[in-house]
Amino acid sequence: MRLQTRIQLFTTAVLIVLLLAANTSIYFIFKNTSISSEQNRLSNTSSHILKEMNEKPEVPMETMLQAYLLSDGLIRIAEKGRTHTVQVYTDSAYRHIPSGYHDEQYEGIIEYKDSIFALVSIPAINEKGEIISLQLIENIDVLYENIQELKWVLVITSIVVIIILYATSGIVGRLILLPIQRLTTTMSTIEKKGSFEKIVVAGDSRDEMNELAMTFNRMMAKLEDSYIKQEQFVSDASHELKTPLTVINSYIKMLKRWGKERPEVLEEAIHSIETESRRMKYLTEQLLELANLEETVEYGKEVADLGAVVESTVKRLQPTFKHTIRFINYSDCSYVKIHEQSFVQLLVILLDNANKYSDDDITVELTEANGCASIAVKDRGAGIPADVQPFVFDRMFRVDKTRSRKTGGTGLGLSIAKKIAEQHDGKIILESAEGAGSNFIVTLPKLEV
Ligand code: ADP
Repeated sequence: MRLQTRIQLFTTAVLIVLLLAANTSIYFIFKNTSISSEQNRLSNTSSHILKEMNEKPEVPMETMLQAYLLSDGLIRIAEKGRTHTVQVYTDSAYRHIPSGYHDEQYEGIIEYKDSIFALVSIPAINEKGEIISLQLIENIDVLYENIQELKWVLVITSIVVIIILYATSGIVGRLILLPIQRLTTTMSTIEKKGSFEKIVVAGDSRDEMNELAMTFNRMMAKLEDSYIKQEQFVSDASHELKTPLTVINSYIKMLKRWGKERPEVLEEAIHSIETESRRMKYLTEQLLELANLEETVEYGKEVADLGAVVESTVKRLQPTFKHTIRFINYSDCSYVKIHEQSFVQLLVILLDNANKYSDDDITVELTEANGCASIAVKDRGAGIPADVQPFVFDRMFRVDKTRSRKTGGTGLGLSIAKKIAEQHDGKIILESAEGAGSNFIVTLPKLEV
C-alpha cells in the first residue's frame, strides 16, 4: 500500500474513533441529564403534594391532585394489591398506564402506546395509616424527539467532518510526500542514466525534507568526486603502465632491425628494457599494495615503542641516503598500537621523498601532546606550492612529473602513506612553503601504559 494512502487511512481511522467516542459521550450525557432533570422536577412536585396533604388533610385527595396536574400526564395514588383509587390526568388514554406499586422511592421510564413517560413514585402514609405510593407520570415525547434530533445532528456532522478530513489528509499526505517523490524520480534517473543528478532544494527552510534532500546532494557530490578520482586513477595508472611498455616495444623493434649487427644498440636496448620493466614491476607492486593495505593492517597490529621504531628505520636507511637524517626524540615513552611493517613503510615513503626532493639534511622529530604521538619529517628542499598542497595525497598526483619520473616516483607514495596513517586511526598533514622545504606530520593516538 502506498505511503500516502496509509497516512490518509490512518488519520481518518483515528478521527472516526475519536468522533465516535466524543459523540457517543455527548449523546448519552445529554440524554441522561435531560431525563434526570425531568425526574427531579417531578420529585419536587411530589414533595409539594405530600407536604400539602399533611398540612390540609381535610381537602379531598382528588382536588388536591388536580391542583398539581401536570401539563401532559397523570398523578395517581397507588395502593398495594388494589387498582388505582385516585388519579387525575390530562388525557383519558393515560388512565391505564401500568406503573405498578413501589414501596420505596422510584424513578423510571415507561413506554406506553408509542409514547414515553417519566415516572416518579414516592411512598407516603394515608389518613388510615396505610402505606401508599404517590406517582407522577409525565409524557416526555418532546424531550425524546430533541434527543433523537441531537443524535442525527451528531451523526451528520461526524460524516461531514470525516469526508472533509479524508480529503484534506490526502492533500496533506501528497504535500508531505512530494519531496520524497522528487527524490525517487531523481534516484531512478541516476539509476537509468548512471549520472550524478542533484535534487532541487525548495527555499532555505531547515525542515526534515530539505535536510534529506541536502544530505542526498552531499552524498551525490561525494560519490561523484570519488567516481571522478577513480576514473582519473584508472586513466593515470594505464598511462603510467603504457609509457614503459611503449619504450620496451620501441627497443624490441630496434633490436629486431639492428640488434644483431650493432652491439652498442644491443647493450643500450637491454639496459633500457631492464630499467622500464623494473619500473613497471615497482608500479604494479605499489598498486597491489594500495589495494591490499586494508586487510594487512587490520589484522596485524601490536603494541610498539614508536621512538624505537623510528630510530631503527632511520639507522637502516641512513647508509643508502645522500643526506644526513637527524632524529630528535622529545617523548619519554610513546607506546602505540601499529602494524609495524606498514608503519615502517609510511616512514620510508616520507624519508625517501625528503631525500629525493631536497638537497639538505633531513630532521625527524618525535613529540607527544593531548594523548597523541606525532612524527614530523622535515626537509629543506624546494617545498610544495600552496595551490597543489591539497592534492599531494591523491593517487598518482605529482607536482613535477618529469622530476618525479626521473627519481623513479609513481605518485602513489603519499596516498599509501595517508591510507596507512588512517588505518592506525591517525592522520597525516603537510606544512610547506615554496622554497622553504616541507614538513609532513603523522599523528597517532598514544596508548596509556
Ligand atoms: P612520488 O612517487 O612521485 O614521489 P608521492 O606520492 O610520494 O609520489 O609524492 C607525490 C608528489 O608530491 C611528488 O611527485 C612530489 O612532486 C611531491 N612531494 C612529495 N614529497 C615531497 C617533498 N618532501 N618535497 C617536495 N615535494 C614533494
